[in-house]
Amino acid sequence: MIRQALIAGGGIGGLAAALAASRAGWDVRLFEREPAFSEFGAGIQLGPNVLRVLNGWGLTPALQEVAAFPERLQVRCALSGQTLAELPLGEAMLRRYGAPYATLHRADLQQLLLRAVQQKTDTRLQLERPLLSFSQQAQAVTVKTSRGPEIEGDALIGADGVWSTVRQQLLGDGLPRRTGHLAYRALLPQAQLPKRLRSQQVTAWLGPRLHVVQYPVRGGEWLNVVAIVEGETAAEPNSWDHGANAAELAERLAGSCTALQDQAQAMKRWRLWTLHDRAPMQGAQQQAVGRVALLGDAAHPMLPYLAQGAGMAIEDAAELGHTLAQALDPVFDVPTMLQRYALNRWQRNARVQARALRNGQIFHAQGLLRWGRDASLRLLGSKLLDMPWLYGMTAKVL
Ligand SMILES: Cc1cc2nc3c(=O)[nH]c(=O)nc-3n(C[C@H](O)[C@H](O)[C@H](O)COP(=O)(O)OP(=O)(O)OC[C@H]3O[C@@H](n4cnc5c(N)ncnc54)[C@H](O)[C@@H]3O)c2cc1C
Repeated sequence: MIRQALIAGGGIGGLAAALAASRAGWDVRLFEREPAFSEFGAGIQLGPNVLRVLNGWGLTPALQEVAAFPERLQVRCALSGQTLAELPLGEAMLRRYGAPYATLHRADLQQLLLRAVQQKTDTRLQLERPLLSFSQQAQAVTVKTSRGPEIEGDALIGADGVWSTVRQQLLGDGLPRRTGHLAYRALLPQAQLPKRLRSQQVTAWLGPRLHVVQYPVRGGEWLNVVAIVEGETAAEPNSWDHGANAAELAERLAGSCTALQDQAQAMKRWRLWTLHDRAPMQGAQQQAVGRVALLGDAAHPMLPYLAQGAGMAIEDAAELGHTLAQALDPVFDVPTMLQRYALNRWQRNARVQARALRNGQIFHAQGLLRWGRDASLRLLGSKLLDMPWLYGMTAKVL
């Protein structure tokens, strides 16, 4: 039996879904709104839970060419610069969870997924073709895109990001929330930084109402820095006005230690985002209805404070592949299998969303809470930073 999956969105989630569906034996048609598959210049961290999925898809050699594999995570106080706690990554993660912790340029991750999808003959990737709407019938789902005739498939996967068109039509549950948190991101070849500011580890600086995370990408040759602050900005969302962004960030970091201010100043070219999320999912009915399922940020947009948004999109895709493979058996109908996908995913996604929210409060703590956080980090160190519930879960990979 030949089944066709229609996928809206060619970000990390959509490409992972295309790969998983194709590996499950489905034909795939993917519609991307933009004229090219392109991720912006920023980094991404992937935990061992995600690397195990990528390994199952045979992507470890490609990953090793582009990723960095930092040896440790170090948490520092943004005000004093003191080290609060450390978590060994590298070999320690490999031993504990069967895969290391990786940090990458987003474009490198997207390209390696894209290359893997392009090697599949049963996938058609269509650029500059936004999905506009869909309709569900008993035996099929039909989509309308910006051009061409309507297209029929057996399932539609909405992987069209935080502002998902598919979600709007499927759930009609309004727009994502503006969190009042801003992300400044910068990337620079390490060779352009003074030696004392180069780094091959993940460092998280925690300060009142802000935190900064830095890590190497591109095999360690570049440094990625993301600074998250609470507050509003007059700048346009996703603003490229580097001069204004750098000045605004310098002001927000004014009370921080010299080491952190020096790092921010050295990075120079900062791009600014306003962050949106949704409350944790309430049930499987929010992730799949009939022949339509949501995946990645379309399903569970979250604050990036657990560094797992793309990770959950990739785990979603792995689970989707598993259920789509079963749906090739005529005994199982597609809506039932998509419901199974949703049932197997929503609680994990909700837990990660909730934990990301809580991390924001802890990372940005002030006063007594901050004192308690720092004391706990000093006392418990890696025990607090390691998360077996997150890194240890094994997604089924086909
Ligand atoms: C500051 C920051 C740091 C982060 N750090 C990490 C991290 O370290 N680790 C991690 O795992 N995650 C991280 N994340 C989260 C991660 O970036 C997202 O969870 C992930 O990119 C979501 O991928 P996606 O494919 O679901 O959505 P997107 O990347 O948003 O992709 C959606 C795609 O759909 C397309 N599209 C939209 N509408 C339509 C339409 N109607 N028709 C067709 N195509 C459409 C878009 O053009 C886009 O290509 C971070 C996020 C932020 C903001």
